[in-house]
Amino acid sequence: MVTKMFNKLSVRKKIALGYACVFLCILLIIGTSYLSIRQLRQVTKKYEHNRLILATQADLMAHLKLVEAGQRAFLITGKNEYLNQYNDSRNAIKQEALALADLTGVDPYHQKMINNIQQLIIGKFEVLAEAIRDSLTRGNKAANTIMNSDLGWHLMDEIRSELEHMELIAVSMHSSLAEKKERLLIKTEFTIGAGIFSTFSILALIGYISVRDIAKPLKKFSIIANNICSGHYDNNYVVSDRTDEIGQLANSFNAMSASLEASRLKRDEAVIQAEAANHAKSEFLANMSHEIRTPMNGILGLLKLLEHTEMTRDQLDYTGKIESASRLLLSLINNILDVSKIEAGELALESQDFEFDLVMADLSDLLSANLSSADIELVYDFDPKMPAVLVGDSMRLKQVLLNLAGNAIKFTKHGEVVLSTRVIGQDGQSVQIEFAVTDTGSGIAPDQLPHIFSSFRQAESSTSRCFGGSGLGLTICKELIDLMGGRLQVVSELGKGSRFFFTLPLQVAPIIERKATLPSMRVLVVDDNATTRGKLQVMIRSVGLECDCASSGKQALQILQQADSNVYQLLLIDYHMPDIDGPEAIRQFQHLFIDRHDAPALIMLIAQQNGEFESRADAIECDAYLSKPITAGMLYDAIVKATSPSVTQSHSLLKTTERLRGLHVLVVEDNLLNQKVARELLEKNGARVTMASNGVEGKMRALAADVPFDVILMDMQMPGIDGIEATRQIRTHARMHSVPIIALTANAMSSDHEACIAVGMVDHISKPVELEELVSTIERHATACQLIAKDTENVHVSSSTTPEINTEQAINALGGGRGLYVTLLQIFQSDSLAQLKDFKLALLNGENKAAKLHLHSLKGMAATMGAITLEQNVAEVETALKHPSNTAVTRKEVLQRYSFLEACLIQTLEQLEILFPPPVGLS
Ligand code: ADP
Repeated sequence: MVTKMFNKLSVRKKIALGYACVFLCILLIIGTSYLSIRQLRQVTKKYEHNRLILATQADLMAHLKLVEAGQRAFLITGKNEYLNQYNDSRNAIKQEALALADLTGVDPYHQKMINNIQQLIIGKFEVLAEAIRDSLTRGNKAANTIMNSDLGWHLMDEIRSELEHMELIAVSMHSSLAEKKERLLIKTEFTIGAGIFSTFSILALIGYISVRDIAKPLKKFSIIANNICSGHYDNNYVVSDRTDEIGQLANSFNAMSASLEASRLKRDEAVIQAEAANHAKSEFLANMSHEIRTPMNGILGLLKLLEHTEMTRDQLDYTGKIESASRLLLSLINNILDVSKIEAGELALESQDFEFDLVMADLSDLLSANLSSADIELVYDFDPKMPAVLVGDSMRLKQVLLNLAGNAIKFTKHGEVVLSTRVIGQDGQSVQIEFAVTDTGSGIAPDQLPHIFSSFRQAESSTSRCFGGSGLGLTICKELIDLMGGRLQVVSELGKGSRFFFTLPLQVAPIIERKATLPSMRVLVVDDNATTRGKLQVMIRSVGLECDCASSGKQALQILQQADSNVYQLLLIDYHMPDIDGPEAIRQFQHLFIDRHDAPALIMLIAQQNGEFESRADAIECDAYLSKPITAGMLYDAIVKATSPSVTQSHSLLKTTERLRGLHVLVVEDNLLNQKVARELLEKNGARVTMASNGVEGKMRALAADVPFDVILMDMQMPGIDGIEATRQIRTHARMHSVPIIALTANAMSSDHEACIAVGMVDHISKPVELEELVSTIERHATACQLIAKDTENVHVSSSTTPEINTEQAINALGGGRGLYVTLLQIFQSDSLAQLKDFKLALLNGENKAAKLHLHSLKGMAATMGAITLEQNVAEVETALKHPSNTAVTRKEVLQRYSFLEACLIQTLEQLEILFPPPVGLS
């Protein structure tokens, strides 16, 4: 009952009750102790008083004896000293009798006794005094009589008996007081002991109750709180009938747990929904990218085709602008896709061996194409200790460096953009490489630096207006570098430039092949930029050649003029120089060596591939071009090219445009635009193309072919059965197992790539299709025997004397009009040779544009007449003329090709004459 009531009390009340008990106990102890001590003090006082009475009585008695003894001694001896003793003792007795009367106080019994004693003492004193007086007056005899009389003895006995009686009383009182005092002492001790014990007991009880009612529940609450922290919300603390604070707290905890559990359930549901939404977003992005990339593919492909048609200057300008806008749009889509892939954790890095130099050479092409100002010098500054072959994701590394260097170019008006590497540690096959892109551009304000890697952030809002861009590039770079195990950092000073850098741990792969050593020669580098000069000199010396430098065309001319004989076998000349520029310097060098046979080979260094260079390129007779920034491999290849006989170069030119010759490719693609682009690109590279416009047709064509196709390009998303299903069905046939099927996909997600591989495809080409990627991917998967066949055919075609003409197709293309064909043939016969001759003349006069126009017309004529070989050969030379730095063809080579074209044209005309003999009378 009491426990029940106690339990019902609040914790506060319980504690207050506990403290009240303790307080009462202490009060009790103090009270009782106080009373006992007071009593003890009184008893002790009485006891002391009594002891004083006893002592006074004893003194009194002693002095009485002294009085008597003094009197007697005086009477006997008559000496005064005894009389003095007598007097002193008598005085003392008087004092003690008074004191005794004082001590005994108002007690009548004692007063009576004291009075009695005083009377007796007075009597005794009189007897003694009388004896002394008699002794003094009547002599010793009379005194002795008095002294020996009974009165003196009698008085003394009475005094003694009175005093003894008093003493008896005092002694009995003394012992009773002592007993009382002892009892009181014991009682006090007990009271204090018991009080302390009960206080401690109550305190212990309070402690026990606190532990039971507070500490234990608190511990339980702490466990529940920990559970909640670790995400377990399903807790219920049962506190049966407690209504106190702990009970309330338990109820609150239970309510909180229940509410958290409910929120967790809601959150889980929300997470599932968010994941689903994110997945849907990723899918939407992938689909959108497909949807956007498909028309983009068409646009870019058609632009490529458009480039090959005759256009006015304005049209050419518009086409160029459309192309660059389309490419910008494509890069934006790619960026958004990359970000969404990173967000979805979809972005997986590849780990493959790659030649660092080749990757950097690719990057150099891209960077120099990006460069729009002649005032920026692009420089590669690679650590000589850089391993040649590394393991990693070269594509992503290139993407990061391209973005950083692209930004550096974008935000630099004058000065340098240096891409550098530094080997900062090597341990066996592992190497730590620091990559850095340093520019002398606008720099970034300190307050913008902390946010520079956040998505959609640009250093200042005006940036997007001035330079465009989405603010995604650095975010992607940072994420990619994080994935690769590095950390992208930046230091920048406003107005002075920026340095973006990161260190990557990479693996070193064994070197596959070593480049042959170059024949010994002395090289002169002519460049106004000191950094480039220095780097080139180091690179040239590292391949074992001697190298000198000149900082201008003028200085180079002086050096060459001063030498008795030509000491240089190779000149590297920068295109952009302040006083005498590259082309002018070359013209003057050639003049210098006009009558000599030891003219050095020439390599032109170009910083950007822009219109100005292209228009002058034909007029410059160079053995090779090198576009900046330059890698050691690029330099090596250019030196080999510039110093080798030109026959080899001509052969290689032929190879680049005939790379797919002999291959029969089936393209399964539903989109008409894409069909046209794929056919054109493949046929331009010599492949034979069969089209299928959906999955079912693709499957039927693949299975129906007598000789299986060499390669099948399969679109992924098609109406009816899609690419995956079509491939799966094709692969079920044994004879189709070895045919390489390559996916054409606009879906860049790795899951799509995995799906392609899982169903038996060997690779994928992403849309919009890039010519180089298309050709190199097909080449990679064409079997050795197909390649041999292709090479043999190459040789056959290039040395063939019977050009291929398909008149039937041409007549059909003209709407079946044979008459029209014959009329056109007559024009062709009269015009084609003239066009070719005009082309040669224009070329010799350095009129590149006119030369291109003549070639273009010739190609159009050949195509109309169905003269396939002629058309292809003309197209090849035309391409070489259009992109001198890409295919690296010199004017000398083009002239060689002219002879080849002339022979081909004459044979074509002869053949046509046989097929369509001129009417009699017209010959
Ligand atoms: P964007 O596509 O806009 O260039 P980035 O993420 O690549 O996106 O760059 C974000 C911003 O960082 C740029 O808009 C620019 O303001 C700043 N930035 C990046 N690199 C440089 C640099 N080398 N010099 C100056 N500012 C830079």
